Amino acid sequence: MTTHQNLGKLVLQGIPAAPGITHGPAFVFLQKELEIPLYEVGKHQISSEIKRFEEAIIATKKQIINLRKTVEKTFGEQEAQIFDSHLFILQDKALIEETKKEQERSSYNIDYCFHTIAKRHIQDFSNINDKYIRERLADIYDVAKRVLANLLGHKEQGVLAFTEQKIIVADDLSPSDVAEIRGESVLAVITNSGSRTSHSVIMARSLQVPSVVGLHNATAQITNNDYLIIDGYEGTVIVNPSPEVLAKYERIKRDKLHLQEIYESISSLPSKTTDGHRVSLMVNIGNLQDIKKLHTTSSDGIGLLRTESIFLEMSKSPSEEEQFKIYQNIVQGMNPLPVTIRTLDIGEDKRLGNLLLREDENNPFMGLRAIRFSLENIELFKTQLRAILRASAFGKTLLMYPLITGVQELVQANKILEEVKKELKAHNLPFDEHIEVGIMIETPAAAEIIDLLAPHCAFFSLGTNDLIQYLLAADRNNDRIAYLYQPHHPAVLRTLKKIFTAAKEKGIKITVCGEMAADPLYIPLLLGLGADALSVTPGSIPEIKHTIRTLEFKDATNFTQAILQETNPTIIIELLRDFYFQNIGKSFTE
Ligand code: PEP
Ligand code: MG
Repeated sequence: MTTHQNLGKLVLQGIPAAPGITHGPAFVFLQKELEIPLYEVGKHQISSEIKRFEEAIIATKKQIINLRKTVEKTFGEQEAQIFDSHLFILQDKALIEETKKEQERSSYNIDYCFHTIAKRHIQDFSNINDKYIRERLADIYDVAKRVLANLLGHKEQGVLAFTEQKIIVADDLSPSDVAEIRGESVLAVITNSGSRTSHSVIMARSLQVPSVVGLHNATAQITNNDYLIIDGYEGTVIVNPSPEVLAKYERIKRDKLHLQEIYESISSLPSKTTDGHRVSLMVNIGNLQDIKKLHTTSSDGIGLLRTESIFLEMSKSPSEEEQFKIYQNIVQGMNPLPVTIRTLDIGEDKRLGNLLLREDENNPFMGLRAIRFSLENIELFKTQLRAILRASAFGKTLLMYPLITGVQELVQANKILEEVKKELKAHNLPFDEHIEVGIMIETPAAAEIIDLLAPHCAFFSLGTNDLIQYLLAADRNNDRIAYLYQPHHPAVLRTLKKIFTAAKEKGIKITVCGEMAADPLYIPLLLGLGADALSVTPGSIPEIKHTIRTLEFKDATNFTQAILQETNPTIIIELLRDFYFQNIGKSFTE
């Protein structure tokens, strides 16, 4: 929690989970724990206890199926599927069999035995060091609570509806809780726990109200009817704000809505400068949630599919078939737009659970990551290449290797690719024989040998996130030296210039897929340098498209020539800001 003195008496900082700004009175929702009775039952009662248990399971199933139907109607199919995983939990034989055994062993009442076993399962899961599994804990907890409520003969919880609109403040909300919230009576939802990907947050997002999670102890710091401002863009909660702060947030809200209108009005238009220069605007896909959002994002294709996110979210190395299905789905879904699939960029910096059983590295960013890891684990690499190639039969697919530092690596990776192609042919499995192969330019070494790399690949993708950190020897994740991580450093500008000039000489196209492409300040520079495409997170598409559509290409080119002459980073950033405000910023007030 952070306190910003200038905003109000108490300001809580959490994780933004659903966008929007709102204000209103708080309703602190304290879920009551069920009281579980404990008593002994005689041997002769065991069968009636088991019957009671089985009836409670059936009743729970029925409730969940009904809830699924309601949620499908109110929220949609994607949210309803959350309850499929609840039904799946109920089918877990271990949970049921262990409960029965526990009763035989202890002769305690079945409610108590189920509670003991469920608690043990929850405990075992919470010890697993895996974010995805820990998030599913909330689902097990939710289902167990329902079974217990049925065993104890409690009525289903009523719908949370208020006469006045409120902001719900909770420790955590289970998907069942969210399903029972009447949308129109809720202004926002904020919780102590949760992360952006937990099921309750996914559902809160579909309520289409602002949401902030991960506030740690909001339920203790906020009391009923405290007046709150919720900023779902920044993850900020202001408790009992002054009238000035309230007015300030009303202004921010108005500006955001105005921006939204501008963005919506151009969403189906091409990314083209005012003087007709077309730049492809593509998306970076960093997790499976992004994939689900794709149909609502209008782009020119996928410029970067970070496949490691699939491995990380599944907490394992998926089989060829599993990978193929995921890639095929994406490629088919995007068809005829291109999908650039990057091979695994895994390493000590993005660790794949205990799959990578190797020693810790002192210097993970310079260690066995990305293409280096793939070339050390050829079978894993081949499995991935096979899956990508097979997906290429279903739509335009491009293949990309991360962290190339030398020609040898690229040649070796291509050689393995050729072997995989031969194997697929031998098995009569279709793929795009002319699949384009590109590389990430994200190391100073690659930047220096563009001419040597060019003959071995079809395109370059500029990974500014890594390029900047390696060039400036400034860890991209270290807050303490964040001031050194400067995209506007003259060393970065000169290196970019060198890359673009060398690539143009070789006739190779460049996409920029690092975060620099998602920062509107740098768009004039990247266009002026000659970027053919930009690839950004889905959420950045509207802002970057608007930036491109407001710019004159001729102005951007002249500005780039001028800025490349500058040597002082402070002046460079000031010039970038001035240019942005004069050429793009003003469009917001017009
Ligand atoms: C980059 O380095 O700029 C990049 C896009 O790759 P990642 O952020 O996945 O390392
Ligand atoms: Mg990178």
